Amino acid sequence: MSDCIFCKIAAGELPSEMVYQDERVVAFKDIRPVAPVHILIIPRKHIPDLTAITEEDAELIGHLHLVAVKVAREQGLADRGFRLVNNCKQEGGQVIYHLHYHLLGGRQMRNLC
Ligand code: AMP
Ligand code: ZN
Repeated sequence: MSDCIFCKIAAGELPSEMVYQDERVVAFKDIRPVAPVHILIIPRKHIPDLTAITEEDAELIGHLHLVAVKVAREQGLADRGFRLVNNCKQEGGQVIYHLHYHLLGGRQMRNLC
């Protein structure tokens, strides 16, 4: 998607603080962190939101979860714990319509919303 900011970040066309990348997934620091560690993990493929995934994406989503755990481990969160969040559509609080998961950690998480 040519006007999607996360597609542009994944393609290196917009700046970001990248912490992980491979052929299918990239992870970069959120520009407005709400925790000491706040990293966004996204597929390179433009999927607008979680409801748009299909059977074809099952392996990709599984891989994205493995990447999330790898990044969490690299950030020193694997033993302490962390939160992995997807905001889906309007009432889920989604602002950017390219599928992404928030990896949050480095402090005690309390409320769910
Ligand atoms: P969501 O509400 O789940 O759609 O979250 C979008 C997230 O993207 C927010 O936490 C923003 O701070 C973050 N964000 C927006 N633009 C950028 C950017 N250029 N680089 C990094 N993070 C961004
Ligand atoms: Zn996109």
